[in-house]
Amino acid sequence: MKVNSMEFRISMTSPDLDATEVEFNCPLCGFENTATLGEVLGRETHICARCGRVIRLEDEGDSLARKVDEINRRVEDLDKIIGRYNR
Ligand SMILES: [Zn+2]
Repeated sequence: MKVNSMEFRISMTSPDLDATEVEFNCPLCGFENTATLGEVLGRETHICARCGRVIRLEDEGDSLARKVDEINRRVEDLDKIIGRYNR
């Protein structure tokens, strides 16, 4: 019986950025709330866990969106590096 050598390949699945938690303070009571990146980027509303105020999640100047772009670029770079080792 011929035994093949075992070969492992590393694959990198992109982290689920939309589900990543983001913390922000309620503009009314200052309570630290947690939303997801997807909610912020989608400019959804969030209800403060302490005072119940409806907060519109505003990504001012798209600063968060830019960070996400940057992370995605780095993940792609990492994919390329891992690909080199799998060759
Ligand atoms: Zn509040």
